[in-house]
Amino acid sequence: MVKLLLEQGHSPIVFDNLSTGHEEAVPAELLALGDLRDKSSLRRVLAEHSFDAVMHFAAKSIVPESVADPAAYYENNVIGTLNLLDAMREEGVQRFVFSSTAAVYGNPVSHAGAASGAQASSSLIDEQHSLAPLNPYGRSKLQVEQALQDYAAAYGFRSVCFRYFNAAGADPSGELGESHDPETHLIPNTLRAVLGTGPQLKVFGDDYATPDGTCVRDYIHVNDLADAHLRALLHMRDNEGAHVFNLGNGVGFSVKEVLNAAEEVTGQPVPHEMAPRRAGDADMLVADSAKARSVLGWQPGFTDVREIIETAWRWHKDQRF
Ligand code: UDP
Repeated sequence: MVKLLLEQGHSPIVFDNLSTGHEEAVPAELLALGDLRDKSSLRRVLAEHSFDAVMHFAAKSIVPESVADPAAYYENNVIGTLNLLDAMREEGVQRFVFSSTAAVYGNPVSHAGAASGAQASSSLIDEQHSLAPLNPYGRSKLQVEQALQDYAAAYGFRSVCFRYFNAAGADPSGELGESHDPETHLIPNTLRAVLGTGPQLKVFGDDYATPDGTCVRDYIHVNDLADAHLRALLHMRDNEGAHVFNLGNGVGFSVKEVLNAAEEVTGQPVPHEMAPRRAGDADMLVADSAKARSVLGWQPGFTDVREIIETAWRWHKDQRF
């Protein structure tokens, strides 16, 4: 996002406690160290610059961890965000882009209005789908979404919530990519298993209500997510209110299909084993992103999971941090 903002002539500042972030990922002069749980550090950074908007990516986001330690999730994701919103209001910054998640939906429920006979489209999730998160991570994000609706009504606070499906891939340049310790996400775990830099892949559950029994997800490239955020800035310039958009490709891939695609991309077998289900996982999460396409003019560039894995592979083979 920072790379794209700089390319577009913006002047971003990154506020991070580096608990999971990497100093090497951003130019040193753009980094402000601080913690969302410490309001004074937020106020200081907001007062030092004159910001048009805040994009809020800083959250804990690992589903099983949220099940095991919900307090950390409510503290960082809810209280931390409310601190940020308070500090923004105090400093007169009124535009906010929020990283929300498909986890706010829970398991998909096909609704009566879904096209008859069109099984694939009836299982796509649009923004009107019921909100029934299965885990504390999803609940922490939904609580902030609800607060943003109230802030829009009461304070004229403008926001865009993006419900990301599965953020994946790396910058195609190979110079930026994801680096987590411990790593929990499917694509990096798959590639690390191939490289031998991580353990063999565990496939969490093969008894889900999906065609091959493994969970189905909608993988969306990080650069496509960044592009949507840029569009959100323009949208908030012209529109009041709190807006919600799904961001996904609209195509689901099972864990086994991702594994097979990774074997194609790398030309190597993925060492793997079957394992029990992971707590808090929905069977299938695939986006209907028609609203983002029509309202924001957003069009994902990476529509094939192989292309997404290919960018991640470029990063993981020669990981810089
Ligand atoms: N998964 C897996 N093995 C792993 C990591 C993930 O089988 O090492 C599965 C996980 O159960 C889920 C899917 O892959 O069904 C995507 O998980 P990930 O953690 O990447 O994203 P999430 O869907 O939790 O946001």
